[in-house]
Amino acid sequence: MTFSQLGLSAALTDPLASLGYQAPTPIQQQAIPLVLQGRDLIAAAQTGTGKTAAYLLPLLQRLDQQGPVRPKRVHALVLVPTRELAQQVANSVQAYGKGLSLSVLAAYGGTDTDTQSQALNKGVDLLVATPGRLRDLLTRRALHLDAVTALVLDEADRMLDLGFIDAINAIVDRLPDERQTLLFSATLGNQVRALGRSAMVDPAEITL
Ligand code: AMP
Repeated sequence: MTFSQLGLSAALTDPLASLGYQAPTPIQQQAIPLVLQGRDLIAAAQTGTGKTAAYLLPLLQRLDQQGPVRPKRVHALVLVPTRELAQQVANSVQAYGKGLSLSVLAAYGGTDTDTQSQALNKGVDLLVATPGRLRDLLTRRALHLDAVTALVLDEADRMLDLGFIDAINAIVDRLPDERQTLLFSATLGNQVRALGRSAMVDPAEITL
């Protein structure tokens, strides 16, 4: 099995060889075709399984195919529990998206909100954020989410453990209903499933 056989174009597969990715991991084999089809997805996947590439690679391909939003608005939103993960995911976007012209910003607490607002004003295709900081930016009207076509809830169980449920719900309320939603979580407990039901339509389910 190769990344191209899963439906990814050369623009996305070319950088993978230099990163040393020889073949897709099991979660990537299952998730990539479903995400490319536009399905909503709920997946049980631990860190270390390659879950980040499982959603970023097909998402970047879809964003690239959709073309730029004008005026430039956030096109895809990835919510993560911690600043470290926000930085990692943003770095991965840069690595995987080398052959595309998509811009990415990581927004998380502990950094200057004004600086982030300025960066957002310049236009960001893909925003990776912690829910608390993103809610702050929404409250300050520093952010429009009306052009978002894809939402990822990464490490959903950890976001719930950290008490982010109200922030997540407030953010989801501001997104267009017509969008693709992907939820990744180490565990799929009742609260995670409830969040999934409120944010997704007929999701495909992947458990490894
Ligand atoms: P993650 O589970 O997304 O945190 O990824 C764990 C690690 O696996 C990261 O360092 C990725 O760069 C790496 N990785 C992801 N997919 C592959 C792959 N198909 N082959 C080799 N390494 C990978």
